[in-house]
Amino acid sequence: MKTAVVTGAGSGIGEAIARRLLADGWSVLGWDRRPGELEGVTWRQVDVTEHEQVMTAAGELDSVDVLVNCAGVGGIHPAAELPHTAWQRIIGVNLSGAFSCCQALFPALSAGGGLVVNLASVMAHRATPGRAAYSASKAGLVMLTEVLGLEWAEHGIRVVAVSPGYTNTPLVRKAIANGNLDEERLVAEIALRRLAEPDEVAEVVHDLASGRLAYLTATTIRLDGGWGTRAAR
Ligand code: NAD
Repeated sequence: MKTAVVTGAGSGIGEAIARRLLADGWSVLGWDRRPGELEGVTWRQVDVTEHEQVMTAAGELDSVDVLVNCAGVGGIHPAAELPHTAWQRIIGVNLSGAFSCCQALFPALSAGGGLVVNLASVMAHRATPGRAAYSASKAGLVMLTEVLGLEWAEHGIRVVAVSPGYTNTPLVRKAIANGNLDEERLVAEIALRRLAEPDEVAEVVHDLASGRLAYLTATTIRLDGGWGTRAAR
């Protein structure tokens, strides 16, 4: 049975990825600060910003086929007013946390020729006001993907990032509900005229995990319905 560690599996895209892998017979280990409720997942409370916690959880695993770094946090602030704690939290979870998981699971991933999938974002590729920390964290993750992809190829580990556009998750629904995002304006900027569904992101991660896309490494798949290539209006 193939084994995947999915961080952030407690909600949204991570939960959809866990569900898709379970449906295909995978063993799924869900690492989340707040473990979720999806049946069939082996839950472990892990805060990816706590390096020792990550090292301990990883040290218990001999072999892992896929690591999906999906734990993430957002936040919209004008850069001049961005609290330092918010900067540290966003970079800490999205970039440093993902790196901790990659590093900690390197031995288990190299045991069987593994794959790392990093959930980046279209915000890594197209600048948007208010996203200094978020965009920097995701752009960092895109470059981390490329460096690790090169370094770890000789260990049989591929590293790929997936950059979703706005996706219909609790995070985005909350931002729409509290007025931080305007759904109508958003959709008008997306060539396909709709948000992505979490299951659509999960399908791409599943295709990567299946090994069918075996020549992909050190690169990023943009899954944004055309948002990233449209100029802001
Ligand atoms: P979500 O808020 O629904 O889920 C995020 C999960 O990460 C939660 O279960 C949360 O508990 C967990 N988490 C947060 N901090 C953690 C920590 N320190 N340690 C362990 N777990 C932690 O978010 P989502 O919308 O499903 O987003 C998932 C990922 O996809 C994130 O990395 C996000 O940046 C990225 N993404 C989301 C969208 C979108 O539109 N929703 C678009 C592009 C990229």
